[in-house]
Amino acid sequence: MITLALSKGRIFDETLPLLAAAGIEVLEDPETSRKLILPTSRDDVRVILVRASDVPTYVTYGGADLGVAGLDVLAEQGAPGLYQPLDLGIARCHMAVAVPAGFDYASAARAGGRITVATKYPAIAREFFARKGVHVDLIKLYGSMELAPLTGLAQAIVDLVSSGQTLKANRLVEVERVMDVSSRLVVNQAALKLHTAPLRRIIDAFAQAVHEQA
Ligand code: ADP
Ligand code: MG
Repeated sequence: MITLALSKGRIFDETLPLLAAAGIEVLEDPETSRKLILPTSRDDVRVILVRASDVPTYVTYGGADLGVAGLDVLAEQGAPGLYQPLDLGIARCHMAVAVPAGFDYASAARAGGRITVATKYPAIAREFFARKGVHVDLIKLYGSMELAPLTGLAQAIVDLVSSGQTLKANRLVEVERVMDVSSRLVVNQAALKLHTAPLRRIIDAFAQAVHEQA
């Protein structure tokens, strides 16, 4: 049995066409089913639904043979020992620094300056501001980052942006780009040795589908 770890939402939805290219159809809709293990049209392949930030953990420890994880999550956690053969080019967005409209970011974030930043990505944010020579007080949040500067919790946020609508709706402006983000295929190396042929077939089919879409 091959187990593929996916998170609900964008990553699940955008992985479906890649699975289809590999001849794999997921037989239940995660938005209506309460199941966490979804059968597929292939007896030897199943999909498990996990939190986006838990995908690398499942694959690293063999709870899943492969999975799809955002570069945001992989960069934040490090993910040593995971084989990352493919950028799938899905769930594209970017990570940015955003502040309330009118905040003097240039002064706060000058070399030697100091800034309070709320984020779900403290490791990435720490590294980003360290490179700029800015002292950063980091506040770890698990969601709704946009609220932090509006309530005085932090001066800035580091968060994912795609359309920019959420920032706009909360009167925040993007002031710096931290990194481009898309989702990667991650594979357990021991599983790849043990089940080389079926895993290679999936990886190759994904690679071809990604190549054709590009
Ligand atoms: P959570 O499990 O914390 O709710 P999300 O559903 O917000 O996570 O995001 C899951 C993954 O989807 C992220 O790790 C990222 O790679 C991707 N993602 C998040 N926000 C966006 C976005 N605005 N546009 C495209 N991809 C996104
Ligand atoms: Mg979510």
